[in-house]
Amino acid sequence: MKPFIGVQELRNDLRAKKYSAVELAHFYLNRISELNGSINGFITVDSERCLERAALADRQLAHSNPHPLCGIPIAHKDLFCTKGVRTTCASNMLGSFIAPYDATVVKQTAEAGTVSLGKTNMDEFAMGSSNETSWFGVVRNPWNLNCVPGGSSGGTAASVSSGMTPLATGSDTGGSIRQPASLCGITGLKPTYGRVSRFGMIAFASSLDQGGPLAHSATDVYELLAAMEGHDPMDSTSADVENTTLPAGDRSFVIGYPESLFDDLDSDIAGCIERARLQFEALGHKIEVVELPHIDAAVAAYYVISSAEASTNLARYDGVRYGHRTEVSEDLLDMYCQSRTEGFGLEVKRRILTGTYSLSVGYFDAYYLKAQKIRRLVRDGFLTAFENVDMILAPVTPTTAFEFNSMKADPVEMYKQDLYTIPVSLAGLPALSLPCGFVNDLPVGMQLIGRHFAEGEVLAGGMAFQDRTDWHEHHPTLESASAL
Ligand code: GLN
Repeated sequence: MKPFIGVQELRNDLRAKKYSAVELAHFYLNRISELNGSINGFITVDSERCLERAALADRQLAHSNPHPLCGIPIAHKDLFCTKGVRTTCASNMLGSFIAPYDATVVKQTAEAGTVSLGKTNMDEFAMGSSNETSWFGVVRNPWNLNCVPGGSSGGTAASVSSGMTPLATGSDTGGSIRQPASLCGITGLKPTYGRVSRFGMIAFASSLDQGGPLAHSATDVYELLAAMEGHDPMDSTSADVENTTLPAGDRSFVIGYPESLFDDLDSDIAGCIERARLQFEALGHKIEVVELPHIDAAVAAYYVISSAEASTNLARYDGVRYGHRTEVSEDLLDMYCQSRTEGFGLEVKRRILTGTYSLSVGYFDAYYLKAQKIRRLVRDGFLTAFENVDMILAPVTPTTAFEFNSMKADPVEMYKQDLYTIPVSLAGLPALSLPCGFVNDLPVGMQLIGRHFAEGEVLAGGMAFQDRTDWHEHHPTLESASAL
């Protein structure tokens, strides 16, 4: 067995009985034991349940018509509730929280027969772009252990990239699937808001949060999306739409190129995406320049809206109804204060404070309301562009993976990491992040942004690109990681 196998090959091997689901689970559990000490992609490895589920998958595989993902290992970002298993959101606040029920995503993927290896590391409450805010320690980028994997789904991306799991779930509020996918050289999809149920996914900013798949290729991402998506009456913003299908035949698309977005982009990164643009043309797709107005205001609007929503969502962690409770307090109020002081990390506190401020009387109109208006303008800008094009090709990140602590001193520098991902989130659109080159031996990604619920089109675009290129087939060597 080898670590970087795609879903199709794993499925063929399982069905041809080259190995059993139990043997496959052992293989990945061993790889996690070998590498997780240095990568720190997993917070919880659930070997016992994993092997039980693998044995169940073997029984299902012995019958006719098992689900296409039956027996295939998966890992879940540690904000998806998993019944009976610790679900921490990488926070001390939930450090010992055992979820009493499964998130819909966890339930659906389990029903599909996937075998969960455990829960992956992330930025605390999904706030961050570097996975440096986790209570459970930083995650290292498999391509260079001195660099961050991105965030907040950094543990997920690093675990897939290092071959500790072939499939994994993440969540994206302002870029948290696409940015780590890009920095770790893998493929990840942020679905349309409402495509994947949020039930049981611990909330950060509810009007933006969206779960999605990460894997080695657009094809594998598509397979996992099929097991995650669907209308869920338990989530009031879940969309009642047809599941994703790929467009029939070899469709040629009109791909929008937002030229002005590339003006300030690092020229080496821009060069990789430019090369991809030529590749799309060579494949018979048409490129058309598009304008995306108001993008420059998107980061500011996002941090107002997402922090406002976070401040209300996180109000529930008071040490009584939910979360860590302090052992020393003088009275009730002091207990709330101490519990929250001890339970939350610095970045989470910063968001609660700024969010509460922008929602408070006297500031609401100047900040929150204004940010909502910008959100509408950004969305309208995309909808206008989509009158002429089927999808938009854009950068994912302004830099490749950066070194630890290099952006910690100035949070705004870190927020700027999300320059290209946030507008898509504000508009609620789907976007696929996929590898398109390397700069100084570190992966570079690009994103294909689609119309609402047009995941099939961006996935088809990504598959066509990956059919002709092998950027997604490059893997880190990890010699130093296993030696650590
Ligand atoms: N980096 C962004 C933030 O910190 C996005 C996070 C996310 O998408 N969960 O808010």
